[in-house]
Amino acid sequence: MNLGQEQRQFTQLVGKLITWAYAHGYELTFGEAYRTPEQAALNAAKGSGISNSLHTKRLAVDLQLFIAGVYQTDTEAYKPLGEYWESLGGAWGGRFSKPDGNHFSLEFEGVR
Ligand SMILES: [Zn+2]
Repeated sequence: MNLGQEQRQFTQLVGKLITWAYAHGYELTFGEAYRTPEQAALNAAKGSGISNSLHTKRLAVDLQLFIAGVYQTDTEAYKPLGEYWESLGGAWGGRFSKPDGNHFSLEFEGVR
């Protein structure tokens, strides 16, 4: 699968994740999706991301989770969504060495 095909598949899978979340009583807002390489480099310099982030390839999205109207900041709260996302073949940021629970991506060329 080439990058363009994978990007379009990723978008479709995010649609499934959002539908699943609402069907299970969760609510979401969009955080960051596309990130410019320039911004990714700035983040990496600050230690808050990597320069080859999948956000720069349109293969990652950050979703903000609300439960009963309350914004969730703890990675553990995102675990049901993360596990569903993994069942679709995605990579969940909650598994990262530095957990990033609101990050959902599709692996490309070994980057998650
Ligand atoms: Zn992210």
